Amino acid sequence: MSATHATVAPSDIQPVAVKPRFRDNAWMDATTYDALYARSIDGPDTFWREQSQRLHWRQPPTQIRDIRWDKNDLHIRWFADGQLNAAENCIDRHLSAHADRVALYWEPDTPGEARVITYAALHQQVCKLANVLKHLGVRKGDRVTIYLPMIPEAVFAMLACARIGAIHSVVFGGFSPEAVAGRIADCGSSLVITADAGLRGGREIPLKANVDAALARPEAKAASKVLVVQHTGGAVDWHDGRDLWYHDLMATASEQCEPAVMNAEDPLFILYTSGSTGKPKGVLHTTGGYLTYASLTHQMVFDYHPGDIYWCTADVGWITGHTYLVYGPLANGATCVMSEGLPNWPDAARLGQIIDKFKVNTLYTAPTAIRALMAAGDGPLAQSRRDSLKLLATAGEPINPAAWHWFHDSVGHGGSAVVDTWWQTETGGVMITPLPGAHATKPGAAMRPFFGIRPALVDNDGTLIDGPGEGNLVILDSWPAQARTLWGDHQRFIDTYFTTFPGTYCSGDGARRDADGDYWITGRVDDVINVSGHRMGTAEIESALVSHPAVAEAAVVGYPHEIKGQGIYVYVSLTCDHSPSDELYAELRQWVRREIGAIATPDLIHWAPGLPKTRSGKIMRRILRKIAANEHDSLGDVSTLAEPAVVPQLVETRMNR
Ligand code: ATP
Ligand code: MG
Repeated sequence: MSATHATVAPSDIQPVAVKPRFRDNAWMDATTYDALYARSIDGPDTFWREQSQRLHWRQPPTQIRDIRWDKNDLHIRWFADGQLNAAENCIDRHLSAHADRVALYWEPDTPGEARVITYAALHQQVCKLANVLKHLGVRKGDRVTIYLPMIPEAVFAMLACARIGAIHSVVFGGFSPEAVAGRIADCGSSLVITADAGLRGGREIPLKANVDAALARPEAKAASKVLVVQHTGGAVDWHDGRDLWYHDLMATASEQCEPAVMNAEDPLFILYTSGSTGKPKGVLHTTGGYLTYASLTHQMVFDYHPGDIYWCTADVGWITGHTYLVYGPLANGATCVMSEGLPNWPDAARLGQIIDKFKVNTLYTAPTAIRALMAAGDGPLAQSRRDSLKLLATAGEPINPAAWHWFHDSVGHGGSAVVDTWWQTETGGVMITPLPGAHATKPGAAMRPFFGIRPALVDNDGTLIDGPGEGNLVILDSWPAQARTLWGDHQRFIDTYFTTFPGTYCSGDGARRDADGDYWITGRVDDVINVSGHRMGTAEIESALVSHPAVAEAAVVGYPHEIKGQGIYVYVSLTCDHSPSDELYAELRQWVRREIGAIATPDLIHWAPGLPKTRSGKIMRRILRKIAANEHDSLGDVSTLAEPAVVPQLVETRMNR
């Protein structure tokens, strides 16, 4: 990158040593990681051939990699002559030894009795549903849209599709009818699986009504059948001939369903990205490579051992829900907690109560959830012990050191490892992460590449940066879980990821590499602001702001500034015990100045009661940039926001300042 950087020196941050409990028992210590990483890079064919053996193949692969990252002829194939079935790998092969092991503990939105689903029960439900899908005419290669709340039926539906070779497209429960229709249209789904309604934080989400509205739109005409799970029992409109009750068809369905034998490169699912940066992309993942990588990363990143209770709070509508709530853990025969609601509802004590209830060992969540809980202070934590915890993990956004420390010190009592995992919908699995037994962690750093991953930094001209430095984060070689294309738009796939820096996968994120070779994600490259020729990552300024006790959340964007080119525009949400004032305004400007330097001093602070976020909890800076620039007429698609109502509020306060 050009010009100078105003950066917090990572050396200010003290590494946190490997926790004693991981010293002797972890899958990986530092020496083994180094040796295995070197082997994975020097001999990827051998390494991945060995790793593929963790799956059950109907036909083991002899061809390992067939990769071409050339914009004129781009293809990515892994294990191409292998054959397998993902559902068989996630269920059937565990039955002989572990049929009675719990696959899913399901915790309802309102505190209450959990549903307990063993591997045997999972097998039964998935086989029945697979037969229902066949009965409805779904065939290998057909697309099925799953628009369900966080209930076990969402997992059954994904695996039932996988069992018969249908391609699922999970859409967040809570997306608008417009967003649902757009996604049905894009992939041409013939069937939608939904529920009467969903529950989240005590609120009902009218899923069936949303599907009705979506299917009334001409673009969604491909979907001719709607399978409806009765979840809340509320009244719904009914379209005879189109709508079918899930429980009716399941009641008579057979429990026998042979898994379809799939080629390794047959599509497993399409998943639309969160749309933080524009029109969502229909990312396509295939079967063999994705599952190998999901299983290996789940074992190593979370140091999963049989018997561990593992809770991933991500919604199934997000890639984290796919890879680390469903495919990775179930491929490894793990016991997962799935929670319907929010970790801070009915109150901030809930997260700890769920941990205690199921004796959770591993918690995987997002920085946004941690900040929300942190804003309520340490008080609610007194209502739980959380002494079962061993490992805490985050994904989705850079985790600012203040939130990292609170997670580590307060939630985990200082005894659990914290791992910050960097990855994307397109990468299918975790790419840069510490491994709990191998790496002392630096709060705020994603640390080290996973096996087989070759990250690099390039400047804006595409020149590789050696040693410590900052630049565009690219990946130099393929890995098995890499997305193969964007559904129906291979050219957009090539243009988005393989054209800016030819010969590499361009992540779109920026990163810094420190003198130890550890990676720090600085945020999306598009979010970098250029103030008087100084380039600054927004993540860094946000991190400084959030470390102030009055600040619950902050979002930083650039806006047109006559003198500086771009000015620093800051949206700040305050913690419950603070309110806006001129003194606080001045204090926060001083604070950032002291933490980072004069160049990073905010030009404008906008007190924001809420920030526009995607359902996966990411701040939509694209919208905040428009509001800051007073371009209120061109906000773009806001239908994928969790709380669209915050947008007009912010526009109004912007106009009135
Ligand atoms: P779209 O591509 O449509 O704009 P999106 O990028 O928000 O949507 P995802 O694939 O869910 O959709 O998110 C991946 C992005 O999230 C990464 O590119 C990165 O910007 C951010 N991210 C994920 N994990 C981390 C992490 N541990 N640290 C920093 N940033 C992260
Ligand atoms: Mg993205």
